[in-house]
Amino acid sequence: MAKISDTWHGIPRKEIPWYPTVDESKCIGCGLCFVTCGRNVYVMEGKKAKVANPYNCLVGCTTCATICPVGAISFPDKSLVHKIEREHAILRYVQEEKKKKGAKIELSKARASAEKIVSESPHRVEFIVAGHILEKDIPKKLVELVSGCGCDIVNFKLETPSLKVCFNEQAPSSASFTLVSQNFEDISDCMEKVDKLLEDNDIVIVEHNKIT
Ligand code: SF4
Ligand code: SF4
Repeated sequence: MAKISDTWHGIPRKEIPWYPTVDESKCIGCGLCFVTCGRNVYVMEGKKAKVANPYNCLVGCTTCATICPVGAISFPDKSLVHKIEREHAILRYVQEEKKKKGAKIELSKARASAEKIVSESPHRVEFIVAGHILEKDIPKKLVELVSGCGCDIVNFKLETPSLKVCFNEQAPSSASFTLVSQNFEDISDCMEKVDKLLEDNDIVIVEHNKIT
């Protein structure tokens, strides 16, 4: 079942009277609304559909009313939703949600692209390293280094016990990443350069796993 939120764009869901009403005299008990709704709004009682969880209904959805073969389901007029949108000035809230959703989509696209590169590249090296990775600007230095040689660093994961401790008390952090060739060539040269960069910055290579 879809995850049901108790708010709708920041408005408590129970303040929005949007849910279906079943006209029992018309309902023929076919169960189409019951099996179609993915939010457990309906139960079947005897040969009739009943609205058991009205506030699970997705605001603005009218699917069950559309598909009911005998027109037994009704909803408030959609102007009710427009009025609520205006009264609660939800568009500002929606802007924030839009940004978050856009960022999530971009992140998952980038992840999929990185996974594709890793799965297709016959040459790669997996690193686990430790040291002053943030303070020494290692991610930026790595990008500059590999950009010139047809390689990329993917799945860079940084772990610091605490950012404050990391910056104020010079505690080390750890990172894992994979060096991959984007043009399917051997990456031994680039790997050596990465090793040297890490060494020059006092970063310890905890694990080094070349896969060809
Ligand atoms: S779809 Fe309509 S007729 Fe069928 S059970 Fe639901 S309310 Fe009743
Ligand atoms: S309108 Fe949509 S969410 Fe609401 S009860 Fe019908 S199918 Fe379920």
